[in-house]
Amino acid sequence: MADRVLAIMEQRDGALRKVSYEVIAAARLLGDVDALVLCEGAVEGTGDLRAVGAARVLSAAHPDFRLYNPDGFAATIGELASGYSAVVFAGTATGRDLAPRVAARLKVSCATDVIELGRDGAAVTATRPVYAGKVLQKIRLTGTPAVASIRPNTFPADKPAEPGPPGEVESVTVPAFATRVTVKEIKAAATATLDVTEAPIVVSGGRGLKEPANFKLLEDLAAALGTAAVGASRAVVDAGWRDHGAQVGQTGKTVSPGLYFAIGISGAIQHLAGMRTAKVIVAINRDKDAPIFKVADYGIVGDLFEILPRLTDEIKRVRAGQ
Ligand SMILES: Cc1cc2nc3c(=O)[nH]c(=O)nc-3n(C[C@H](O)[C@H](O)[C@H](O)COP(=O)(O)OP(=O)(O)OC[C@H]3O[C@@H](n4cnc5c(N)ncnc54)[C@H](O)[C@@H]3O)c2cc1C
Repeated sequence: MADRVLAIMEQRDGALRKVSYEVIAAARLLGDVDALVLCEGAVEGTGDLRAVGAARVLSAAHPDFRLYNPDGFAATIGELASGYSAVVFAGTATGRDLAPRVAARLKVSCATDVIELGRDGAAVTATRPVYAGKVLQKIRLTGTPAVASIRPNTFPADKPAEPGPPGEVESVTVPAFATRVTVKEIKAAATATLDVTEAPIVVSGGRGLKEPANFKLLEDLAAALGTAAVGASRAVVDAGWRDHGAQVGQTGKTVSPGLYFAIGISGAIQHLAGMRTAKVIVAINRDKDAPIFKVADYGIVGDLFEILPRLTDEIKRVRAGQ
């Protein structure tokens, strides 16, 4: 019989988050996938889950599940997990909190921030960056079920272009749980811009930009590229030029976009920790010995103030099909 894997979906305000599709893509590497949605009521887009490969869609509905409920979520998943060989979470703020809780309940180990998943015989294997991304650790999870959380943007999957058929959603029982923690509100960042962890392209700037107003050059480049978010090094966040929500690195966010621009960023180890797994890295720096060039796929040595306007114009021209 094929291995059965439980994929934990994330929803916000009754709609599935993009990372949920990535969790299914990762879980499919391990076996047949059941997708579990924890929610207050109906969730939009459950038909899409079948379209991306979930065999069954399960719903655990409870009046306290509108937002994240650590005790209730962990109790529900813990009860359900015994029938599965693996449980896969998103490595988001929620998943980073929830996966270890579930693993502790089940008395199994937990692999977090995983960038590769597979099997070695019956055991689940996982690869995860450690020591700020300098080393890739390969581990074998021997307990059952194997519990893992995946780094967002690492297992490519998108919401299907065509909505899937609604299909059957099977209700699962939510066990009794004691609420010790109540999440009262999840506040979206003040701006309506794309989050760096979800964007397929991230354009990040550092102290080389000299002053906050010059981030306009990055915003122009991001706009020319289409679906791109603007990120920042800690140096400029600490200086108050950008919000902390944009900070990439060890004490900021971990991103794995298809394309990452590091502009006027030296490439300190703590910055690399947050972006090293980007598929393609482009660095622009006037110092040819800047450490960022060691991880860059494409490097431009020069003054960003000269290069950026020309790069943005060229991208606009190419995208306009001229
Ligand atoms: C515990 C700890 C946690 C940390 N966490 C993080 C983190 O999460 N994220 C993070 O980013 N940092 C983090 N840091 C800070 C990190 O060590 C660096 O200090 C920081 O990343 C440097 O930011 P920067 O590259 O913008 O600035 P700098 O190191 O000052 O680099 C600026 C770069 O811009 C280039 N430059 C200047 N002018 C131009 C120009 N006109 N054109 C082109 N290039 C130009 C320079 O050559 C230089 O390489 C952490 C540090 C510690 C100790």
